[in-house]
Amino acid sequence: ARAQAMEVDESPEVRYEDIGGIDEQVREVREAVEDPLVNPGQFETVGVEPPSGVLLHGPPGTGKTMLAKAVANETDATFIKMAGSELVRKFIGEGSRLVRDLFELASEREPAVIFIDEIDAVAAKRTDSKTSGDAEVQRTMMQLLSEMDGFEDRGEIRIIAATNRFDMLDEAILRPGRFDRLIEVPKPGVEGRTQILRIHTQDMNVADDLDFEELAEELDDYSGADLASLTTEAGMYAIRDERTEVTQEDFEQAREKMEAAEESSDRSAR
Ligand code: ATP
Repeated sequence: ARAQAMEVDESPEVRYEDIGGIDEQVREVREAVEDPLVNPGQFETVGVEPPSGVLLHGPPGTGKTMLAKAVANETDATFIKMAGSELVRKFIGEGSRLVRDLFELASEREPAVIFIDEIDAVAAKRTDSKTSGDAEVQRTMMQLLSEMDGFEDRGEIRIIAATNRFDMLDEAILRPGRFDRLIEVPKPGVEGRTQILRIHTQDMNVADDLDFEELAEELDDYSGADLASLTTEAGMYAIRDERTEVTQEDFEQAREKMEAAEESSDRSAR
């Protein structure tokens, strides 16, 4: 069960060029994660401590996991992912144990990038309720921070965490020596959306007159993940019609379908 809580990928397939609309964030992640892995001597020579941990925050589906995978891939590091929710366990000491296992695995496989998604599950601000569950989560978090402290002697391990709920985080984890490099990953603007649509249609047979910019204009508030589903959905319309090319009209229909689905789920949420 322990091994199942972690996802290990020796060479994730994501490359920087697969990530659209967040060039600045790609640059920042490379600086914080790639440079210290590839060129640790440079930090020593200049006398600068590389950031201990990188925290990516922003709405769901904006490319945070992709960023972590891409940087692992491009530095030939092992990618080890753990969901924060997996660290919340029923039995006392189980969460801390998983954290120790996580770092142990990383040092066996270094260079390695540890990615902890949904870090808020173990690092939310403490509430007033002093239930035993809270205390256990707190211990797990302390274990994580103490593993991070022991880092420098461990060599080539970098740690990236992600959250959609930055406002809920306990500030203790943001102190120097902890997650001290914050990178916000927003939803894409119109230019970013255009770029992401181009990326996701790279292997798709699209009509010559398809106008990505015009499409992107209409897709306000779409995340990268939404754009990926939209593209697939548009392709499905072409297939159903037994056409070989995906057209602007297919995208329009896909958009209507996605927006109708969203409206009905909004309604049922009310
Ligand atoms: P969550 O917070 O829900 O875990 P995330 O920010 O980690 O989301 P990813 O898992 O990286 O999001 O993205 C999900 C999928 O959406 C990707 O596999 C990709 O297909 C698409 N996607 C998201 N953002 C981008 C982007 N900036 N460029 C290209 N594709 C993107």
